[in-house]
Amino acid sequence: MSAPVRIAVLAGGVGGARFLRGLREAAARRWPDGDGGTTAAITAIVNTGDDAWLAGLRITPDLDSILYTLAGVNDEQRGWGRVGETERVSAELAEYGIGWPWFTLGDLDLGTHIARTSMLRDGLPLSAASARIHSRWPLGVTLLPMTDDEVETHVEVDDPESPDPDQRIRTMHFQEWWTRYRASLPARRFVQQGIETATPAPGVLETIEAADVILLAPSNPVVSIGTILNVPGIRAALSRGAGRVIGVSPIIDGSVVRGMADACLTAIGVATSASAVALHYGARIAGGLLDGWLVDSADNQAVESLAAAGIATVARPLWMVDLEKSAAIADAALELGLRAR
Ligand code: GDP
Ligand code: CA
Repeated sequence: MSAPVRIAVLAGGVGGARFLRGLREAAARRWPDGDGGTTAAITAIVNTGDDAWLAGLRITPDLDSILYTLAGVNDEQRGWGRVGETERVSAELAEYGIGWPWFTLGDLDLGTHIARTSMLRDGLPLSAASARIHSRWPLGVTLLPMTDDEVETHVEVDDPESPDPDQRIRTMHFQEWWTRYRASLPARRFVQQGIETATPAPGVLETIEAADVILLAPSNPVVSIGTILNVPGIRAALSRGAGRVIGVSPIIDGSVVRGMADACLTAIGVATSASAVALHYGARIAGGLLDGWLVDSADNQAVESLAAAGIATVARPLWMVDLEKSAAIADAALELGLRAR
């Protein structure tokens, strides 16, 4: 018997969650364990740049989006949070002016945040606290925070309202920019506070280095994948790892599918297109990251030019509308990643 296949994935919240659900399914079909699961070891390295302290609690939105989705307790209709959620506690908190009025904390979700914060207060690092929380459900995927250190993405925006000309730049937490303002205030730049001194969480570098294939989920290239790559040591581990690095485009036919990732790309001067994002990650043979790239069938015209730039590119339907479609996308990424082994 050969050693189990090891798959590493870099992931943000919603795109990451749907992709991982598909990948778990694709792996169970390719390498079944005879018990409905897979013999493959899937480890996701998850963005924690959206994390925040809120109402005295540490919230980790991307880890939780993935957790709830893989556990099957997510709200499919709404697209985030827990199914069957209520908001009695946040209504009480609002009476005291606690929390962000534009950021819903459901009661079930608050249970997760209280449990996590309690463990952090007991001195556990985030990775250990997360592992305890994740052990509640059979996820079939190991979820690692990118770092145990507190890294928070903040956004610098123009503030034309300010009476003081020296105060015409405002900085806010990414969640405020994203959820309260729906990314409508043009971002000058993103500042990942604490990233310079952050170190990868235990297991992160080892996972990348030992992986047979490394997949970049169709997640936000700037504030999800970009943040993970900026943790010192992670990008270098990707370049030096033996596994091929395959990305899945989060952009289809010039638009972002879900969310407002275009506002993030614009801020860093990258066009909202499947090929611009691939070139932003860069070809590994030219010092970048990617060996391969999946674009949507609608972006078929990008295949040849990206291949010429050194990125093996294939076009497939990339809308993750259901489990079957997501599994097919993940399987195509595995195919491309394991091709030249
Ligand atoms: P967030 O943390 O919740 O913002 O989620 P992610 O970082 O995972 O990225 C969200 C991005 O995933 C969106 O802006 C889209 O570009 C991409 N995305 C979401 N759904 C799909 C899908 O069905 N197909 C593809 N190809 N990309 C998607
Ligand atoms: Ca996120």
